[in-house]
Amino acid sequence: MTTLVLAQSIGNQLLENTKRLITAARAFNEPIHVLILDTERQEVAAQAAKLAGVEQVRVAHYPEPDLVGFDEIANLALGLADDYKTIIAANTGSGKYVLPLLAARLEIPPLTGISHIGDDQSFERPVYAGSLIEQVKLNTDKTLLTIRPANFEAVGDQSTCSIEAVTHTPSNSRMEIIQQTSITSERPDLSDAKIVVAGGRGLGSKENFAQLEAFADMLGAALGASRIAVDMGWSPHITQVGQTGVQIAPDLYIALGISGAVQHIAGIKDAGKILAINKDPDAPIFKVADYGIIGDLFEFLPQFQNALTKND
Ligand SMILES: Cc1cc2nc3c(=O)[nH]c(=O)nc-3n(C[C@H](O)[C@H](O)[C@H](O)COP(=O)(O)OP(=O)(O)OC[C@H]3O[C@@H](n4cnc5c(N)ncnc54)[C@H](O)[C@@H]3O)c2cc1C
Repeated sequence: MTTLVLAQSIGNQLLENTKRLITAARAFNEPIHVLILDTERQEVAAQAAKLAGVEQVRVAHYPEPDLVGFDEIANLALGLADDYKTIIAANTGSGKYVLPLLAARLEIPPLTGISHIGDDQSFERPVYAGSLIEQVKLNTDKTLLTIRPANFEAVGDQSTCSIEAVTHTPSNSRMEIIQQTSITSERPDLSDAKIVVAGGRGLGSKENFAQLEAFADMLGAALGASRIAVDMGWSPHITQVGQTGVQIAPDLYIALGISGAVQHIAGIKDAGKILAINKDPDAPIFKVADYGIIGDLFEFLPQFQNALTKND
C-alpha cells in the first residue's frame, strides 16, 4: 500500500513542512504520494513533484486554494483514502484540523504530534508539555498521523514525478475561509529558522521588543516569544514558542528574560544549543541552557549588538 502526504502551501509556494513530512513518510518504506490543492497552473504541484522520494503528486484544482476550508480538504482526502494505508499531515496549520476531521469520518483514531517513527513502526510523541515521551503502537487498518515537522529533516529534490489531477466535486463545505491577510516578514520562518531570538516578560514592553527584533535581524534570526510576551501584546501570536505555540528545532535558541516554564521548554527541547540571559540565577531556563548569562538583558543586548556591528 501507499502513503499519502497532505501538503501545505501558501500562495504559489510549497511550505518547507511538506519536505519534512516526506522524510517522515519514508519511514514506512512504501510508495509516497502527495495531495496538494493548487490552481490550474499547478505551480505548487510542480514543486512537490520534484521532492526526493515522491512517486506521484495528486492535485485538486481550486481557483483559490488558500481559501479552501478544512472541512472540504478532509472530504477530499476521504474520497482518496481507500488507496492509502497511511495518511500523514503536519502537526501545524491546517494539518492539525484536517487530519482529525478525516479520522472522525473514517472512524479511525488519529495519532497526533509524532516526533519519531521507529523501525518497528511504533511512534513517539511528547506528552504533558514534553515532560514524558510516549511510545505508541497502532492496531488500526489505516494509520492517520500528524507529524511535528521540526523533528524531521527536509528532503531535497530529484527528477520530477508525475502529476495527476484528482476529479472532485466541491462539497457543501460547512466552513469557508473568507479572506487571509498576509503578515509575513523578511525574517526566516520560526519553524525552519537556524537561529531564534526570543523574549519574555523580562523585556518589559513592546518598545523593548522592537530592540529585540533589531538584534534578531542582525543575526538573520527568527523572532520568538513566551506566551506572556504574546498575551501582553508585545509580539504577534505567531511568534509564541512552546506547548501551545510553535515547537522549534533551531541550531541556536537565544532566550532573553524568559524564566523557562515547562510549557515554554516543551517548544525548544529539540534546539541544538540554548543560550539564556536572565537576571535570576535560579531561573529554570538555566537547567536546560547550554550557555547562560546571569545579568540584566538591557546591559547585554547593546553590548552584543555593538560587537556584531564591529565585526561587520
Ligand atoms: C496550559 C498552558 C499552556 C502554556 N503554553 C505556553 C507556551 O506555549 N509558551 C510559553 O512560553 N508559555 C506557555 N504557558 C505559560 C507558562 O506557564 C509561563 O507562564 C510563561 O512561559 C512565562 O513567560 P516568561 O518566561 O516570559 O515570564 P516569567 O515567568 O514572568 O519570567 C520572566 C523572566 O524574566 C527575567 N527577567 C526580568 N527582567 C529581566 C532583565 N532585565 N534581564 C534579564 N532577565 C530578566 C526574570 O528573572 C524571569 O525569569 C502556558 C501555560 C499553561 C497553563
